[in-house]
Amino acid sequence: MKKRIYCDYNATTPVIPAVKKAYIKALDVYGNASSLHETGRMAKEALEGSRMAFSSFINAIPEQILFCSSGTEANNQVLQQLITRHRDEGPVHVLVSAIEHSSVLETVKILESWGIEVELIPVTAEGLVEVDTLVSLLKPHTKLVSVMFANNEIGSIQDIAALSKVVKDHGALFHCDAVQALGKVSIDVSQLAVDFMTFSAHKIGAPKGVGILYTKSDDLVTPLLYGGKHERGLRASTENIPGIIATGAAIECLDVDAFQEHTQALKKHIKEVFHDLSGVYFNGPINAQALSNTLNISFEGCEGYSLAMNCDLEGIDISTGSACSVGSVEPSHVLNALGISRDLNLASLRFSFGLDNTLSEITAIVECISAHVKRIRSL
Ligand code: PLP
Repeated sequence: MKKRIYCDYNATTPVIPAVKKAYIKALDVYGNASSLHETGRMAKEALEGSRMAFSSFINAIPEQILFCSSGTEANNQVLQQLITRHRDEGPVHVLVSAIEHSSVLETVKILESWGIEVELIPVTAEGLVEVDTLVSLLKPHTKLVSVMFANNEIGSIQDIAALSKVVKDHGALFHCDAVQALGKVSIDVSQLAVDFMTFSAHKIGAPKGVGILYTKSDDLVTPLLYGGKHERGLRASTENIPGIIATGAAIECLDVDAFQEHTQALKKHIKEVFHDLSGVYFNGPINAQALSNTLNISFEGCEGYSLAMNCDLEGIDISTGSACSVGSVEPSHVLNALGISRDLNLASLRFSFGLDNTLSEITAIVECISAHVKRIRSL
């Protein structure tokens, strides 16, 4: 069977072979890390080894790392605790950027239903949150600001150091969803005024089922789940030891420079060749900083959804930012926030590359898409 071309690394990543090996071996570490016996202690040791590896990768300390089940859970953990934490303090205001992942945007809708005031921070046409815009939206009762490190659809990278500083100076907490940044840009939490940072293991070549929350201090965390005293009493649930061991192994494989060099070359190539096709628009960052592996392109006169389906039939995995719901295709909220027209929004494709992609795969993708774009436009 012909090998598929996978260009959807921001959705999820294939498990790295060395990580797969570590994961399979880790299935034998079956102890419950809370058990006092030798088998339990072995699991606990492995758990703490991964915690150590993860914390040192982002220049945190192990006591600042909480393992959970997903990036979605970590985001929910940070946001949902606002419902109970400030219950008796009068009005609570929360700011989140307009281009956050649904795990943030859908959760703040729940906060609103609990009476919390939520506002979206607009972004520039390149997908950036500007410091002045953020400052103008802060209120005396703003308790939390959440801005993602890097966007999953367009790859825009925010100036988290500058944004977190103004939020801290204001006296509010700062949360950063760094799910798409891990392994793609260097992250040093000691240089950022962040209180929480979210990560997800399946975006870095580990299996699904592990999320990681960095928290500046345990005092800032009110549990989402109650039960046993796992994760310093902050997240009840028997830990997913094999998944967490695999996460530690994946962290050891990360090489930000190599990732950037490889994927930047692929991105440069695909941009150059698509330039020859008319009616092609590159969405998001042009001069601003962007993820080296992410490219969002609109093909005028075509539906991104049907292009993606045609690519799928030809063995190429690419995604659209738009969501298909009950028979209709909804435009991407991220491209909407950039001010892109509905037609071009629905005509977009999101390419996200990884270390396994090659230049010859890019050639095959470009040939496939160009042929379909020309065919669709001639109809
Ligand atoms: N945040 C961002 C920016 C993401 O891209 C994703 C997943 O696509 C998530 C959060 C959710 O992570 P998970 O799939 O681990 O729930």
